[in-house]
Amino acid sequence: MSFSADVKNELARITDEESCCNLAELAALIRMGGTMLIGGNNNLGITFTTENAAVARKVLMLIKRRFDLKTEVVVSRGRRLKKANSYLIRVVPSRSNVDLFTTLGIMPGVSNERHYAGILRRACCRRAYLRGAFLGGGSVNKPEGEYHLELVTENQIFAKTLIRMLKSFKLMAKITDRKHDYVVYLKDGEAITSFLRVIGANSALFIFENVRVVKDMRNQVNRLVNCETANLQKTVNAAVRQVERIKLIAQTIGLSGLPENLRETAELRLSYPEATLNELGALMDGKVGKSGINHRLRKLEQIAQNLETESYE
Ligand SMILES: [Zn+2]
Repeated sequence: MSFSADVKNELARITDEESCCNLAELAALIRMGGTMLIGGNNNLGITFTTENAAVARKVLMLIKRRFDLKTEVVVSRGRRLKKANSYLIRVVPSRSNVDLFTTLGIMPGVSNERHYAGILRRACCRRAYLRGAFLGGGSVNKPEGEYHLELVTENQIFAKTLIRMLKSFKLMAKITDRKHDYVVYLKDGEAITSFLRVIGANSALFIFENVRVVKDMRNQVNRLVNCETANLQKTVNAAVRQVERIKLIAQTIGLSGLPENLRETAELRLSYPEATLNELGALMDGKVGKSGINHRLRKLEQIAQNLETESYE
């Protein structure tokens, strides 16, 4: 089962909330996963589709808890072997549905701002609303992969409402469009953790955090190791080059032909090809600093370079 399905199953089990939150959650669920039905006499109904049985049960429960309406449930089996079942809940079109539409703030053709003002006021309802949005049209990658959580809706205004609600929990979501949909998404591991906390997915949060901590630590270690390896490689390359140059000097003019301080440096480098500049400095008579050693080695390389040029002339 996917991580998204685990999260949804967990969220679908949260049923013991205040009735204000129940309504907020149902409103978001229907906004995300519902479609308006128009029946005879222009009476309105709703169909809600989901592939998750627990989500279907929750929608039905939330409707029944508050409204006395006629509903139907249709299960269609996946045609192909791997295709999931699909659950369709239908609120049969009827005049008595008006209460549902106005209470949830989804009445078509009227301003639903007052409804949003009500939902946005209390943090408990905003949490429930975001939970409903995730249950109705959300998904999240498993933490082992790339961090990604998204809420998909066809409605641009609704997408912006989601952004606003997320912002009220300090979650800075981005928005993009994909074909006919608007995708509100979070890409940051920490933001996804916070989102799971906000909507009450505590078990999923625990799993997500554990994986994330290990993954971040591994990344950090890899970065450090890569960096150190690169530095070490550079040091080794420089030392190998220095040794070659010094050998060239020894074979041509001889190390004894060098000024005293350069001769000492050259001999030490030959004896300690793997020593760092600091280590070489410490081995010198009267101790020489790193930059002093570096300067001398550069001079030796210069001398070798000149010898090489001369030999070609
Ligand atoms: Zn509430």
